[in-house]
Order: sequence, then structure tokens, then C-alpha cells
Amino acid sequence: MFAKRNDQYSVICHTRAAEDCSENGEWCDSEEEAQEWVEQECWIFSGEGWFCLKCNYHFMQNLAKTRRDKGMNSMLPDGWDDDLAVGIDTVR
Ligand SMILES: [Zn+2]
Repeated sequence: MFAKRNDQYSVICHTRAAEDCSENGEWCDSEEEAQEWVEQECWIFSGEGWFCLKCNYHFMQNLAKTRRDKGMNSMLPDGWDDDLAVGIDTVR
């Protein structure tokens, strides 16, 4: 999850999915500081590792594209609309 160079640490982007992927975060004196930096930058923690905002944006775009191609409903599990309606009622 961390890269180390010249006694400095940086969080590595886990996915490197985007062409303009940041690849790693700021170089810091400790792993803790490196992780704090990516948290402040709002990198996303996937459970396996961090991924950068560029990759997050890349995934969001792909998701939007998939929805357009297949239509919203095919993306949703059965009963999702009912849950949504309940949620809206609760808000009102
Ligand atoms: Zn990335």
C-alpha cells in the first residue's frame, strides 16, 4: 500500500485504472502522514487499498456509461424502486 523512497513514504494508488492516474500521494516522513494526506485529498479506500481521485472519476464515468447503455433499471436489483419510494416518504 505504501511506496518508500529515500526514507519517505507515499500511498500508492491501488488500481491505476485512469490514464492520468496520480499513481501515488505526497511523499511524507511516515506512513501515517502519507495516509493522512490521501485522506485529506479524499482518496477512496476500497478495502484492498487506496485509489486516487483520478481513478475514482474514471470508475464513475464508466458506471455512468454502463447505465446509459443498458438503461437504469437493469442495473438495479429487484425491489430497489420500492425501497427508494419508502426512503422518499420518510424524507417528506
Ligand atoms: Zn489512480
